[in-house]
Amino acid sequence: MAHPDRDRKRAGGGTGTLPAMIRVGVFGAGGRMGATVCDAVRGADGLELVAAVDPQRAGATVEGTDLTIAAEPGALVDADAEVVVDFTVLTAARENLRWCAAHDVHAVVGTTGFSADDLDEFAELFTHTRANALIAPNFAIGAVLMMRFAELAAPWFDTAEIIELHHDNKIDAPSGTAMATARRMTEASEEWGTDPTTTVVADGARGGLVGDAIRVHSVRMRGVIASQEVLLGTTGQTLAIRHDTFDRSSFMPGVLLGVRRIAELPDGLTLGLDPLLDR
Ligand code: NAD
Repeated sequence: MAHPDRDRKRAGGGTGTLPAMIRVGVFGAGGRMGATVCDAVRGADGLELVAAVDPQRAGATVEGTDLTIAAEPGALVDADAEVVVDFTVLTAARENLRWCAAHDVHAVVGTTGFSADDLDEFAELFTHTRANALIAPNFAIGAVLMMRFAELAAPWFDTAEIIELHHDNKIDAPSGTAMATARRMTEASEEWGTDPTTTVVADGARGGLVGDAIRVHSVRMRGVIASQEVLLGTTGQTLAIRHDTFDRSSFMPGVLLGVRRIAELPDGLTLGLDPLLDR
């Protein structure tokens, strides 16, 4: 629902503010990330968990509360949620974002897998509502900084390779974070040394090439959650930038930052946590 005649977003538009106590709803509240978000919101100053939606867990209560998980997003309107966090599945998240735009509710989204067309659609949709959207494929602030540091280092080194390690249930490789890191580094520098390898004894030994310079090595290992190391080398020195995720709680400071700051973000869609880290 567009509101072209409104000259001010409900709480956004770059100068928006939310009340001292922000009313938060969670899509996917019964899932692994959603349940962790419910817990984090409950423990956060200035945030109140007012609604939880998850069709597969409808009727259950959010752990530690008497809040009933709803099947439908209408519960978010009934509870007057101002910001909604989404950790669901791609098909559901698309609909949830459209719902948030139509109901003027700010959306903080961690669900992964959106296409460029999806992002174009959401940018357009949220520009014409009173709400903002933040979609961040990685809410771990350390991982966001790792990418930024790697980008900063890129012009000062001749070679770089990325090793990413994930749990043994991850079916895609390389990780989105490794791909994004490699792309940012190749955009930051075009001058990279050539690969000296002329004989590959075991297939894949040199990893996968992203762009034409940076190789990514994907490790899949039981016991690991998510780690990444960016290795850079130049004459007489190397630099290793490493980030490790040990627990889903690692994503929560980034999610809470998004919830608290979303109203102040520029109109429409913000991609990634990066812009929120510059105070
Ligand atoms: P999960 O399967 O444990 O949880 C997903 C939940 O969404 C399920 O409980 C499901 O019932 C619920 N759901 C499905 N359709 C729904 C709908 N229409 N409305 C409300 N709820 C609905 O998955 P997970 O491990 O919690 O991960 C969720 C997403 O978060 C994935 O896309 C994952 O890649 C992503 N993720 C992102 C980050 C990040 O930092 N951005 C970190 C971890 C995971």
